[in-house]
Order: sequence, then C-alpha cells, then structure tokens
Amino acid sequence: MKWVALLLLLLAPLIVSPFYLTMLNYIGLYGLVTLGLLLLTGIGGLTSFGQAAFVGVGAYTTAALSSGVIELPTALAWTQHSPWIALLAGMLLTMAIALLLGALTLRLSGHYLPLGTIAWGISLYYIFGSFDRLGGQTGMAGIPPISLFGHPLVRADEMYYLIWAFVLAALVSTQNLLDSRQGRAIRALKGGVVMAEAMGVNTMRVRMAIFVIAALQACASGWLYVHLQRFINPSPFGLQYGIDYLFMAVIGGAGQVWGAILGAGVITLLKQWLQDILPGLLGRTGNFEMIVFGALLILLLQRSRSGLWGLVSRLPGMPVRRRRVPATAEPLPRRTMPLRGEVILEAKGVTRRFGGLVANNAMDLTVHSGEILALIGPNGAGKSTMFNQLSGVDIPTSGAVLFRGRPIVGWGSRAIARLGLSRSFQHVRLLPEMSVLENVAIGAHLRGRSGVLAVALRLDRAEEARLLAEAAYQVERVGLKEHLLDAAGTLALGKQRILEIARALASDPCLLLLDEPAAGLRHQEKRELCGLLRKLREEGIAILLVEHDMDFVMGLVDRVVVMNFGEKIAEGLPDQVQRNPAVLEAYLGGVNE
Ligand code: ADP
Ligand code: MG
Repeated sequence: MKWVALLLLLLAPLIVSPFYLTMLNYIGLYGLVTLGLLLLTGIGGLTSFGQAAFVGVGAYTTAALSSGVIELPTALAWTQHSPWIALLAGMLLTMAIALLLGALTLRLSGHYLPLGTIAWGISLYYIFGSFDRLGGQTGMAGIPPISLFGHPLVRADEMYYLIWAFVLAALVSTQNLLDSRQGRAIRALKGGVVMAEAMGVNTMRVRMAIFVIAALQACASGWLYVHLQRFINPSPFGLQYGIDYLFMAVIGGAGQVWGAILGAGVITLLKQWLQDILPGLLGRTGNFEMIVFGALLILLLQRSRSGLWGLVSRLPGMPVRRRRVPATAEPLPRRTMPLRGEVILEAKGVTRRFGGLVANNAMDLTVHSGEILALIGPNGAGKSTMFNQLSGVDIPTSGAVLFRGRPIVGWGSRAIARLGLSRSFQHVRLLPEMSVLENVAIGAHLRGRSGVLAVALRLDRAEEARLLAEAAYQVERVGLKEHLLDAAGTLALGKQRILEIARALASDPCLLLLDEPAAGLRHQEKRELCGLLRKLREEGIAILLVEHDMDFVMGLVDRVVVMNFGEKIAEGLPDQVQRNPAVLEAYLGGVNE
C-alpha cells in the first residue's frame, strides 16, 4: 500500500497532464501547511487561523534575500541570492516570531486563542503589504529559481520533486513524532491540562513545540511557493487562506497525518472543478464554490467528525495502525523506595476555601510508606478537594503539605509527580480514541528523556521500546491484558478506572492517590483490585484512597480518616472508626441529604 503510493508519487509527472502536475504542486504546498495545522489543531486541540501568515514569513524572507532587494552588510554579502540560505534565515525568523506569538497567545484558553491567531494573522498580512521595496500590495516579480547542485529548478516537474520531497520528510517526521513519548504528550493535551501535568507533561512547552513545528512547516511551504511562482504579493498570506488551511485540516481528518494531504488534495481539486463547472451550470460567475464548500463541510462533519480520512480508514481492507509491544526491551530503572513505615506524606492544617465555602478546614493527615490509608466521608465532604491539594492540582488557601520531607505547596503537579506521587481521578481523564497501551504509556512520560527533534528523527527507538514494554507490563498487572490494544473509550467505566491505576503505576510512584477506584466495578473485579492494592503495599508503595464501598475499605486498609463538612471527624483503625458515634452520625445524616 505504502509502496504503491510512493511509486505513483514518483511516476506522477510522467503520467499526468501539465495542468494536473501544477495542481499536484499546489496540493503539496498546501498539504505541508495543513500537516502542521493537523498537529496543532487536529491533534493538539489548538485552533489557529493564522497559519497563512507563517507561509508569508517564509515567502517574504526568501523574496527579500534571494532577489537581492535587501542589501546585506558586507560580512553577510556572500549569502545574498542563495535561496537555501534564505530558507535557513526564514526558518530562524519564523521560529523567533512563533516563540514570541506563542508566548503571547498560547496561554489563552477557549475561543480567545483562535481570536488571538486571527489578530496576529491579520497584522502580519498588513506588514507584508507595507514592504514597498518588495512591491507593496501589487507584488514583485523576478525572484530567482532554487538551484540544486548548480542546476536551477525552473520546470514544473523539477519543482514537483522538490516540493514532494519536503512533504514526505514532513509526513515521516510527524508520524515519528506522534509514535513517541512526545507524541503522547501532544495528544494528552486533549485529555486536559490537569491530567497531562499530573503525568509530568510540561503542557506549555508541548503547546509551544507544536506551534513552532506547524509554523516551520508553513514557512517551508512559503519558501517553495515563491520560488515556484517566481513572484510575490501579500494576498496568499491573508486570513482567507488561513481559513482555507483550517478547512483542509478539518475536512482531511483530525487525527491522522495522511488526512492533511487528503484534505489539501480534495479542496484544491474541488475548488478548481467547481470554478470550472458552476458558472456553466448557473449561467453567471461568482464565488459560488465557497457556498458549495461550506455546505459540503457541514455535511461531512455531520457524517464523520474525523473528516474524510475517518471515512477512508474505515473502508474494508484499510490497514489499522496499532502500536505493538516490543518482544524484548530492557526494563526501565526504578526509583529507590522510601523505607517502610517512614512518613511519606504529611498535611498540616490544610484549608481550602472556594469563596465562602470551606471545602477543607485545617485538615491534618499522615501517610506512611507501605500502608493503605482510606479517606472516607459523605458526598461533598471535601475528599476530592483534599486530593487536589495533596497532588498539586490545586493550591491550599493555607496550611502545609510535606511530601518525602519537602514542602510542596505551590510546586505544581508536574514537579510533585517527578518526586514519586501519582494519582487517578474520580472522573476518569483518559484519551478515549487512543489504545489502552498508549494511555498507560502517558504515565511513563517522566521515565523517558527524548526530545522533539530526537523522536522526529527516530533516535528514540530503544527508549520507546522500554516505555511501551513498561506500559504493557502495568496493563497486564492490573488485569487489562485482553484490552491492551483496544481503544480506551470502549472499556466499561469501571475498567477505565483500573486503566488510570495502571497509568499511575507506569510512573513508578512511591505514593498512589486513588479517588474512588472501585466505583463501577463488579464483585469479582473488586476482589482482584483488592489483591492488586495489597501487592503494591507489600512492595512498599503507600496508598491513599477515597472509597465509598465500606466492605471494600474495611477489609483492605490499615487506617481510616473520616471527613465531614471539610473537617476530620475521626481517625483510627477500621473497626474503631466503624463504631465511632461521630462517624455513624455523619453517615446517617448523609442519608437524608
Ligand atoms: P467529595 O469528593 O468528598 O465528594 P469534593 O471535594 O468534591 O467532595 O467537594 C467538597 C465541596 O467543595 C463541595 O461542596 C463542592 O461543591 C466544593 N467544591 C469542590 N471543588 C470546587 C471548586 N473548584 N469551586 C467551588 N466549589 C468547589
Ligand atoms: Mg469526590
């Protein structure tokens, strides 16, 4: 399949007419931008309307440098007229601009981010038009062709090979990126910042990385475009094109790299055909193709949220992409566990107010290594809030939390995770379309080191094998082996909670925080979970859990802390606590709620 496609790509200039060869060139150029956008928007969930502006940065940099319009200082004069050096300069400039714009806009959430990208997209467009020496709004001709080994690429088929070499390189490196620790971090963005950070992902850095990558791909497209056209004006870098690129990414398909090329291809060809056919049908000229387009987009998204590629990939006979577990991989190093019985977590006077509501009031809590402590109490008692204060998801209004002897209030969950605390969530936070294996592998994020560049070049294979093997081991350990390659969203809710435990274990924690792990489990599954938690305790892991099933709690845990209305009302051994009048009162009171 792959080889047939490659062969067709190679032979295309010999087969297709000059008109369609030109079309293929444009599909490649648009596909390159769309691919970056697919990573940014489709996979990372960050919507940008401004990609055309980065195409413009690549285009204008090379127009200025390779045409010799801008006089460089004598020290740099040797670089003049070389499109390749102009490409390098364009990439550096793009990176600088993307870092600046990213720092300004990527922190915005919800609809403010797309609005922000529109704002800088428009600004850059007007800047391009203001360079009078580059032709201002009317444009400028006379841009030299790209030379390869002294041979100028002037024919359409020569540019075709250069363009598609860029597209293929981008496709392969993006696919490599997605099949890696960094790729899982990118996809984890869609599972929510809270989950990703709790697994040790630096979400701001990941956002910035995909923003810069998408910008660089757009820049390369602009460079190729200008040398194909040998002419430049600002119009292809405006907002309308930014919208077109988004269309291509969405129509092509949100999750898969091939969707980018498909989207660029379908839109480019459809636009051309509609422009030819519609005036004849309607008897007049106008931008009717945009109207038809809009209608098609709405129709498609109603049928398939994952775009055309979503439809294509479901056709019979299409290969299914699934990560496999490596046969052999060296086990990852493990952290040295604290001594059994050592105080591992200590909360002192933790108070958390939400406006007038005191969700946690002067809570004290101690967890020792190798013990299971249950935190129980009626609904709304403040247990989940307490978990958030302990794991760095939230910051207490006052009070102190010591983890392994260090005061961690204000650290943020990523840093705390690095120290060995891992958690599950009461409301599961996982990536439903990703396999169980890869969801669990997100938990092992901090046990790998490979950066974006290394994974794009596939230099991370040994490490990646170890991470996947670790994830597979944890999946097996919690009893989900039969679901290893299933999409996580297809699991019953109870099993999704178990998946979260496996994900937490993949980080090699010394303290586990489990928020209602047994909810939704059947009797037999609860017994298996009990067995697992006992085994973890034997290994020296400390476990703090919130649970409502009293039979489950009482047979398993070493000590119990009872909360009501944000305060600790009792603490002790399970059977002591069960007979405590204050506890009985709290639970009987809770029935009437
Ligand atoms: P539990 O997990 O014990 O059922 P929670 O910790 O979820 O209880 O909630 C304790 C109280 O704090 C509840 O009254 C809840 O409405 C409130 N609460 C929790 N989180 C927030 C928040 N982010 N903003 C405002 N109130 C909150
Ligand atoms: Mg809760």
